[in-house]
Amino acid sequence: MHLFNFHHHTSYPWGIYNLELGAAPPARPFSIGLHPMKHYANWKDAFNEVEILSKSPQCIAIGECGLDRRSKVSTLVQEEVFLRHIQLAGSLKKPVVIHCVGMHALLLKYQKQSAVPLIVHGFNNKAQTGKMLLDAGLYISFGSNLLSSVSLQSFAKEVPMERMFLETDDSSIPIQSLYEILGTIKNQSIAAVQNQMLKNLQTITNL
Ligand SMILES: [Zn+2]
Repeated sequence: MHLFNFHHHTSYPWGIYNLELGAAPPARPFSIGLHPMKHYANWKDAFNEVEILSKSPQCIAIGECGLDRRSKVSTLVQEEVFLRHIQLAGSLKKPVVIHCVGMHALLLKYQKQSAVPLIVHGFNNKAQTGKMLLDAGLYISFGSNLLSSVSLQSFAKEVPMERMFLETDDSSIPIQSLYEILGTIKNQSIAAVQNQMLKNLQTITNL
């Protein structure tokens, strides 16, 4: 049984593969979007490509896209690009995989404007930030940091199972180790965790 991997950059067969612009779309589920840390000579041209690829039935989510305080792209442009992704996702009824560094409070504004679920991937912030996102209606996906961060583990204990996902992102750790740690945190079997993740996937994709 393959465990569902919410966001990854590998050849893993069951999950949401983050397709890079310019690469051939795979025959397995993928997401497509403009990463806020990447500077595109012309983001509108790049976004046109995203729009074309996003119509593929294998494309089950938009992203990763979002906001990053460290980016050389201005906040103004980042917000414009992010909003376009949310609008595209709304028109296609596909959820949005969000990359966010240091700008989480701004996400609340976009959650209000979004017709589809927003999932903050690779969450590695304070519990207070996480609670703010959950209260606003966003989902949270945990990555490899969950294995080592005690504070993240204690926050994960508080997050309702139906509002979370697990992912490896670009790390080489097996997705199994994330299921194991969450199973321990929640006192549930790996099969039960997988069951819940698949239910969550249904919730965010059957719109
Ligand atoms: Zn990623």
